[in-house]
Amino acid sequence: MIEPTTEAGRSGLSRLIASPDQALLAFDYDGTLAPIVADPSKAFPEPGVLAALEAVASQVGCLAIVTGRPVKQLLELAGLGQWSAGPLVVTGHYGLERWSAADREIIAAEPNPGLAAVHDQLPSLLAELGLEAADIEDKGLSVAVHVRRLDNPDAALAALSDPLDRLAGRAGLIAQPGRRVIELRPSAMDKGRSLARLIAEQDPAVVVFTGDDLGDLPAFDEVERWRSAGGLGLTVCSGSAEVSELADRADLVVDGPAGVAEFVEALAESWT
Ligand SMILES: [Mg+2]
Repeated sequence: MIEPTTEAGRSGLSRLIASPDQALLAFDYDGTLAPIVADPSKAFPEPGVLAALEAVASQVGCLAIVTGRPVKQLLELAGLGQWSAGPLVVTGHYGLERWSAADREIIAAEPNPGLAAVHDQLPSLLAELGLEAADIEDKGLSVAVHVRRLDNPDAALAALSDPLDRLAGRAGLIAQPGRRVIELRPSAMDKGRSLARLIAEQDPAVVVFTGDDLGDLPAFDEVERWRSAGGLGLTVCSGSAEVSELADRADLVVDGPAGVAEFVEALAESWT
């Protein structure tokens, strides 16, 4: 049973159920369609979630995955390269990359020139803070510093916050905090702007976004902006003990990726 706790969310859900062909159904990936794991290269989809997405893909106007990951990595991890179940768009790097099942080509922005300085300076900055054991992930158009495998990840994240803010600022980038990770990336795009592009492109009647982390808040903002302009929408939080900001804002909170899979399964069932 899907029960949004807000009036706006209930209206959005009703329209989604009644007119799926007019819906843009968008999801974050990590922590939403896939459980968070210590090694991000092994963040495979939640069992059942792909089958559920395939079941709804032929019903909805457009299915989208809006991720901070590079598109290529996402397609490989989620096994979506051969997707043929229906319209699917993947935007990667918070919107700097785009792929669709229709054209199967990754369209990418140019790398930000400030990234080279970040790559140069990051190892010595981590060493100065005694955090050289943090994992540096080169994502091509951005750089992520993961602290999940450190002894005290929360303290590490707190110690890194200001220095990484300053490093990002000097390089013309922003430092985006996440679940035991800080990502240094261009500010030109975020998930809100990425979702706004999808809305402009797809012209939906109802917009649904499901996410779990701070980087998803701009997408929630976009759904709210869309609603205040007269559209219908639904924000769904993949709940976790690590982040509370999205749950506070969402129309509907489900229990992590397993709850997201159940949500999508329930949608599929409502259309059979
Ligand atoms: Mg996430």
